Amino acid sequence: MSGDTYVGAIDQGTTGTRFMVFDHDGRVVTNAYEKHEQRYPEPGWVEHDPTEIWENTKTVIDEALDNADLDPEQLDAIGITNQRETTVVWDRETGAPIHNAIVWQDRRTTDRIEALDAAGKKDDIQQKTGLEPDAYFSATKAEWILDNADPIKLQRARPADVRERAEAGELAFGTIDTWLIYKLTGNHITDVTNASRTMLFNIHDMAWDDELLDEFNVPREMVPAVRPSSDDDSYGTTDADGFMGTEIPVSGALGDQQAALFGQTCFDAGDAKNTYGTGSFMLMNTGDEAVMSDHGLLTTVGFQRSGEPVQYALEGSIFITGAAIEWLEDMTLIEDAAESETLARSVDSTDGVYFVPAFAGLGAPHWDQRARGTIVGMTRGTRREHIVRATLEAIAFQTRDVAEAMVEDSDIDLSNLRVDGGAVKNNFLCQLQANILDTEIVRPEVDETTALGAAYAAGLAVGYWETLDELRANWQVDREFTPSNPGNVGHRYERWKDAVERSLNWARDDD
Ligand code: ADP
Repeated sequence: MSGDTYVGAIDQGTTGTRFMVFDHDGRVVTNAYEKHEQRYPEPGWVEHDPTEIWENTKTVIDEALDNADLDPEQLDAIGITNQRETTVVWDRETGAPIHNAIVWQDRRTTDRIEALDAAGKKDDIQQKTGLEPDAYFSATKAEWILDNADPIKLQRARPADVRERAEAGELAFGTIDTWLIYKLTGNHITDVTNASRTMLFNIHDMAWDDELLDEFNVPREMVPAVRPSSDDDSYGTTDADGFMGTEIPVSGALGDQQAALFGQTCFDAGDAKNTYGTGSFMLMNTGDEAVMSDHGLLTTVGFQRSGEPVQYALEGSIFITGAAIEWLEDMTLIEDAAESETLARSVDSTDGVYFVPAFAGLGAPHWDQRARGTIVGMTRGTRREHIVRATLEAIAFQTRDVAEAMVEDSDIDLSNLRVDGGAVKNNFLCQLQANILDTEIVRPEVDETTALGAAYAAGLAVGYWETLDELRANWQVDREFTPSNPGNVGHRYERWKDAVERSLNWARDDD
């Protein structure tokens, strides 16, 4: 390639690591991807090897650059986006993890959360962090590692006890962004969005909270410095003697859902996006106000640019959306995900069938761990087409549940909803969503919004892009879905709510 310059983004996800290079127009120039091993040491536990993730990161960067014949020096900046909440503790001296990373999905600390609840501490934590206390966030994972990691064998006389070493400042705590920033630059730094998912960070003061650090026994000596998501001072540079052989500023980082919000250019209060993957994550920018939810949504940091106020977001997490389509495949009701569209279109309605895919309980706004998958309204005439259509309707209805909660919490009307993720290839689903929300659904051309968001954050910091307007101009519509023929949506939504009622509080401990 010619001597043009670009911005790179490391997209470190739950299943794998991708490196993407973007040009000035926000188009993908090259990319490479590598999966890593999922480790399940016990039921409900999920771990990753941070060293494997770092090795894969180097591999995909090398591969992507090689594929396009790019020189590392052609990268003006690197940004990072990452699976959120996943927790790593490492030795500052050797740079080696003291335990595998505990992944966001891991449930091993559920008892700890129940104890907090019993002690009446949940409300205070929620007020400070904006989070519904859960094993999902980093705090109890860090505590678990410090309590359970094997003592470290040392050459010289130093305390081998993990907790003593943490208190002596010899260990570092971080999420995956922090781990990669450390490996790339040698600096111990996280960005505001990732900090906001640890349950140790006060999102109003924008600082680590001493009471929470105490509660979870995480010594202040081990937490990273917290910096803007797009940082004009950069978190540091790659090492000229390292694998890239040159100094490139690492100047942007955002948790994956916040990166998608940024990549979708949802820069203003009221802008919202929904990502339809295995589950769905809807985020709405609420501007510089941290709106606390009365409806089971999370309050979180959306992004921050250097020298500018923090932008907050409301977040609704839906556990099972695309995964319900995968379940249809497993049940051989469809051959592949794309067939869901043809089958759903082949019937006029679900013929009264409602499917609540609460396979893993229900997330926002219901939060019921004991809810289970429920299909209601079947008759002798029910066909697979009806079930398939009801599955797509369930994705759209669950999104309406979250969207209504957002509008009520924020008092901001949803003018339109920007969508991305694997399931938005489905035009039937997008149109259905427009009808069920009675809101315009907008699908952008570049669907790699997560990596793009990280590239934008890094590129803005180094002046590769100067203004947000340039980024807005890059954002091109692939297709808009305008609400039409909503049919009896109001009635159907009421029936959906009835179906949800029937799915709640089903699982019993003795099942
Ligand atoms: P993740 O990032 O969570 O792994 P992706 O964004 O890659 O997920 O999206 C994959 C999900 O999208 C799968 O759960 C799959 O069932 C769903 N999906 C893919 N294509 C379609 C389609 N045409 N219609 C509905 N769902 C789809």
